Amino acid sequence: MDDVPARATTGKAGREQDATAAAAPAGRRGALARLGDLLLGTEPRQRQRLGMSSFAALLMLCCIGAMYLGVAAGLAPAGPVHWWAAGCTLGLVIVYALIRSGWSQRWRDPSLTLAQVGSAMTFAATAFVLAGAARGIVMPVLAIILMFGTFGLSRGQMLAVLAYGLALFAAAIGVARWQSPELMPLPLAAAYVLMAALVLLSATVLNMRTQATREKLRAQKVELARAMEQVRELATRDELTGLPNRRSMMEALQLQAWRAQRGGRPALVAQLDLDHFKAVNDAHGHGAGDAALRAFARAVRGCVRAGDLLARWGGEEFVLLAADTAPAEGEPLLERVRQAVADMTLPMADGTTLRLTVSIGVAHWRPGEPVEGVLQRADAALYDAKRLGRNRVIWAPGDAPAP
Ligand code: GH3
Ligand code: MG
Ligand code: MG
Repeated sequence: MDDVPARATTGKAGREQDATAAAAPAGRRGALARLGDLLLGTEPRQRQRLGMSSFAALLMLCCIGAMYLGVAAGLAPAGPVHWWAAGCTLGLVIVYALIRSGWSQRWRDPSLTLAQVGSAMTFAATAFVLAGAARGIVMPVLAIILMFGTFGLSRGQMLAVLAYGLALFAAAIGVARWQSPELMPLPLAAAYVLMAALVLLSATVLNMRTQATREKLRAQKVELARAMEQVRELATRDELTGLPNRRSMMEALQLQAWRAQRGGRPALVAQLDLDHFKAVNDAHGHGAGDAALRAFARAVRGCVRAGDLLARWGGEEFVLLAADTAPAEGEPLLERVRQAVADMTLPMADGTTLRLTVSIGVAHWRPGEPVEGVLQRADAALYDAKRLGRNRVIWAPGDAPAP
């Protein structure tokens, strides 16, 4: 009846299952597993539904057994109990067939929880009438029936089941008194009504509390997942520019190094540093500097290819990883970046227009070269770009494409 999403055989349950599998002799387990598949199917959700219904059926069979003990004791009439038992069994078979065939999946509640709880309640009330002096055995069953509704019923449905149960048992107690008033004097009838109401009400209240706790847990789980996503985002993104941060770029570089070891295509690593950026802050303030960094990130992102990764390395320094790129392809790409930055015009609060330039040092990743090695060569090339006058792309020695 519990229709929560079924998990695959991972986690504790999965491990326990595996342990059982290892302990059981191979042939016997094989046969058991096949029997399980035959009876419950192989789809996890269906197995869960049928598992719950089978458990409910087992309890119902125990109740039928208890009724026959009542018959054996001469307290319940054999004939009507046969009919009652046949009705119960037919109900169980119908529920099993509807779920096992997949037919129930056309309905909103494929576990048929409401139908099962409602019919079990009806059979319990009938048993109450039939059990004669043994009818006390029926009361605890009521609580068990309601417990099955905890997972599959909405609050409204639980209240409807409560109202149905109260009406049903009031009627059953009335019928029992009308049938044999000597077995059901008025005070006893009142006591039964009181007990039925007590059992039904308390089970419903406890179920609702359980359900509220489950809902709270579910909401907390969603909230936790959202917070985790936020933490992941904060850990990998640079807040100012929205670009991947240094940590993210390091991961990408490690991955690229691993790929290169497995014979991947070449890659280029470029270090980009804005020219005279301190002067931007000094002249226009830190806020304008921040806006310029954001505009720079947008401009560069707009002119690199989809597969190129641009990250903020720190301050006004950035790293570009161009995977699967030979120097001959990288040269126009980096020139495009340099030009796009030089073409940017940023209006300032004082009416002036800010223009930026960027210096770029680039290295061609050599096979087997460590991440630190290629970064260091790109950095040395950047230093040369600054030294040679800025606003230029300089290749690490020996890496420049043939003219
Ligand atoms: P160079 O051409 O040699 O690179 O000169 P530069 O002024 O760009 O280099 P320097 O390293 O002297 O200064 C970098 C400046 O970048 C200093 C710092 O205030 C500024 N900066 C670093 N991070 C940020 C930031 O997040 N926001 C702003 N507004 N400025 C930043
Ligand atoms: Mg710098
Ligand atoms: Mg700089």
